[in-house]
Amino acid sequence: MSITIKRVLVTGGAGFLGSHLCDRFMKEGWDVVCMDNLITGNENNISHLIGQPGFEFVKYDVTNYVHVPGKLDLILHFASPASPIDYLEMPIQTLKVGSLGTHKALGLAKEKKARFLLASTSEVYGDPLIHPQPESYWGNVNPIGYRGVYDEAKRFAEAMTMAYHRYHKVDTRIVRIFNTYGPRMRLDDGRALPTFMAQALRGEDITVFGKGEQTRSFCYVDDLIEGIYRLSQSEEVDPVNIGNPEEITILDFAKEIIELTGSRSKIIYKDLPKDDPQVRRPDISRATSILKWTPQVPRREGLEKTLQYFKSIVP
Ligand code: UDP
Repeated sequence: MSITIKRVLVTGGAGFLGSHLCDRFMKEGWDVVCMDNLITGNENNISHLIGQPGFEFVKYDVTNYVHVPGKLDLILHFASPASPIDYLEMPIQTLKVGSLGTHKALGLAKEKKARFLLASTSEVYGDPLIHPQPESYWGNVNPIGYRGVYDEAKRFAEAMTMAYHRYHKVDTRIVRIFNTYGPRMRLDDGRALPTFMAQALRGEDITVFGKGEQTRSFCYVDDLIEGIYRLSQSEEVDPVNIGNPEEITILDFAKEIIELTGSRSKIIYKDLPKDDPQVRRPDISRATSILKWTPQVPRREGLEKTLQYFKSIVP
């Protein structure tokens, strides 16, 4: 009796989340094709997989016509610059990968009769007027603001995904990802967590934007990957929030990192970037009821694991 091995394509597979997904699907016994143009991804994130049977890396920009020889059962579309600094520096690529890249990846899913899972984002809720954010909330996004390039590309990507589902009957999934952290985050991606950890480890001032009263809710990467894996194996077509509802102000978060690292760094205040959401916290009722998923890793434990990683790479 022959066992058919399933095969997944991960776009953005050398990125923070993409590389953890490659790991997870390899562990589940799938063949994995990892595609990345390496503009924000890094081959170091997948170096342990290169040469393993069933793993392939293709350096490619998914905004161009995509051809993958052989069968595909699942496409995970995770390619995109994903931190505010990245999409400020690469606004056009961010718009292209969310729009043209999603179109190409959906076309490939249709061709291969593969399931398609879109990495969407809490940014579709913009600076939210409803708190916490349920999937039914339509959001408060400034289309022409600096964050608009990411937010609107992801909103377009969701619309395109649903159109392919409704019109072409592609089997689709949409995950709305909230702030996630863990090993393989880029030290210089400008996000609060890697920035604060690097500053604390180097004894530099910790740069809190605004008064630090804005909130975020941070999810450890292992929890997020478990949620995405479950969604990929479920029958749920409508968007599902995956994130950790434990909410903290950015000022308290900075203090927590100073305490955890035992650093002598001082907090300094800088201007709040434009359109920075005031609050963010997922309503995870749907993930809990549909996927039987809740986050398992407390922030303290997740931060300690992440700190070990950053200690190994901070110059
Ligand atoms: N932030 C900060 N100092 C930094 C980087 C970020 O105070 O050095 C703030 C930022 O203004 C935002 C929050 O931390 O309110 C989270 O920012 P991040 O870039 O991590 O992700 P976002 O959730 O805004 O996409």
